[in-house]
Amino acid sequence: MSLKVYSGAKGELVDFVPLEDNKVKMYVCGPTVYNYIHIGNARPFIVFDTVRKYLKYRGYKVTYIQNITDIDDKMINKANELGITVKELADKFSAAYLEDIKALNIETADVIPKATEHIESIITMVSKLIEKEYAYLIDGSVYYDVSKFAGYGKLSRQDMEEIQHGSRVDVDVEKRNPADFALWKAAKPGEPSWDSPWGKGRPGWHIECSAMSAEYFGPQFDIHAGGIDLMFPHHENEVAQSEAASGVSPSVKYWLHNGFITMDKEKMSKSLGNMVLCRDMVDKYGGETVRLYMLSGHFRVPLNFSEDLIVQASQGLKRLYNVTDRLENMLEVASAYPSDNDKKFMNSLQVYRDSFIESMDNDFNTPQAIAVLYNLAKDANMYLDNSGDKISADLINHTLNLFSEFGAVLGILRNIRKKESLPEDLMLLIREREEARRRKDWSRSDQIRDTLNSHGIRLNDTPYGVQWTKTVS
Ligand SMILES: [Zn+2]
Repeated sequence: MSLKVYSGAKGELVDFVPLEDNKVKMYVCGPTVYNYIHIGNARPFIVFDTVRKYLKYRGYKVTYIQNITDIDDKMINKANELGITVKELADKFSAAYLEDIKALNIETADVIPKATEHIESIITMVSKLIEKEYAYLIDGSVYYDVSKFAGYGKLSRQDMEEIQHGSRVDVDVEKRNPADFALWKAAKPGEPSWDSPWGKGRPGWHIECSAMSAEYFGPQFDIHAGGIDLMFPHHENEVAQSEAASGVSPSVKYWLHNGFITMDKEKMSKSLGNMVLCRDMVDKYGGETVRLYMLSGHFRVPLNFSEDLIVQASQGLKRLYNVTDRLENMLEVASAYPSDNDKKFMNSLQVYRDSFIESMDNDFNTPQAIAVLYNLAKDANMYLDNSGDKISADLINHTLNLFSEFGAVLGILRNIRKKESLPEDLMLLIREREEARRRKDWSRSDQIRDTLNSHGIRLNDTPYGVQWTKTVS
C-alpha cells in the first residue's frame, strides 16, 4: 500500500514520494487576521491538519508551517475603520484565531511566521528578483514582470493570453503588464512602513509566503496547501517568485487545494455576507462535530454548509461515542481470557485498519475513512449484542485502541477512556513505530519506544497488534 495524491499537472493520482526519506516539509497559507474566521476559512485549517496527522500516522516526520498575514490592504482598512493600529488589530485576531483552531483540535504549527517579522527576508528576495531582472521599480514600489517568467500560468494551467485577458487594468499605476503584481508597495501617509532600498514601504501579499517558506525550508519543499481560491493568483505568483529567485524548479512537489464551503451554491465569504463564524458553530455543537462535518466530504470537492449537516455529524459522533462508552463500561466485568470468538474478532480488526489506510492513501479520502469508522462501530455493537457480557478485556482494549487510533488521525474521539487515553501525538508515535518496524528501521523504533517509556507508556506487541499500557498518569 502506498500513499497517492492527485496531481493537477498530470490529471491523475501519483505516488507520494517526499524529497527526503520519511520527512515531509509542509507549508499551508494561514489567515489574514482582520476578523474572526468563518466556517469557510476553517476548512483548509482542518483538512490540512488532518493530512498532517495522517502523514505522521504513516510514519513521516512532518514539519508544518502556517503563516499569519498581519499586514495588507484589508488589515489597514479594518484598523482604520476601528480606529486602532494595525498591530493592535493583528494581535487581537491572531489570538482569536489560535483559540479557534485549538477548539477544533488543530495542532499548532511548528512555525507560525508573521509577515511583519520577516521583512528582512522579504527585502532580500525582492532585491534578488530586481537583480535578476524579474522585477522593476516604479515610484518606490516594486513589481514582478510576469512576462519574464517562462512558466507563468503553469500551476493554474492558463496561458498568458487568458491571464492578460482576466487581469484588471489598474488605472493608478503604470505597470508594464496588467498581470504584473506588487512585491513591495511604497508607503502611503498613515500606513505602517519599513525601510527598504527603495524607500519606506511594505511587502505585497504574495511575496511573504515565498520568502518565509524559503527561509525555513530552502528553495524546495514537499507540500504547499491552501484554498482553491489561492491557486491563482497567489500560488501562481509564489511559484514565479520562488523559482525565479532560486533558479530551482519545482519549488513545490505537491500542491493541495481544498474546495470552497458553499451556501446555496455560493462561496461562503465575508464580502458576500453569507458567513457563519467558526466559533459560533463550535460553541453550539463542539469542535469534534465541526471537524467530522468538515471531513465528511473529500477536501478537493466543494462542501455545502447547512446546519442540518452539522446536526447529522453530531449524531454520527454520538453513535461512535455510544459504542466506545459501551465498551468502556464492560471493562469492569470483562474476563481475563479471550474466547475463540473474541480472538476471531480481534484478528478481524486489522481488516478495518487496512481499509482505513487504503481510504486515506487514496488522496486523503476522509469520507471513506469515516465510513470505515462507522462500520467498525456497527460491527462492534453487533458483536457485543451477540456475546452477552462474556467479553475479554483484551478485546475491549484492542477495539477501543482502534477507535482512538482512527480518531487521532481525524482529530475526533478524544474523550475515549478520558482517564487513561493518550494524547494524539503519542497515539501517532505508536503508529510511527509500527511503520518503522515494518521498514525494519530498528533504531527509529527503539527511539520511539524510549520516548514513550519516558511518558510512562509501555508497549506490548501482541498477535492482534500493539497494545499500550500507561504505567503512570
Ligand atoms: Zn500564502
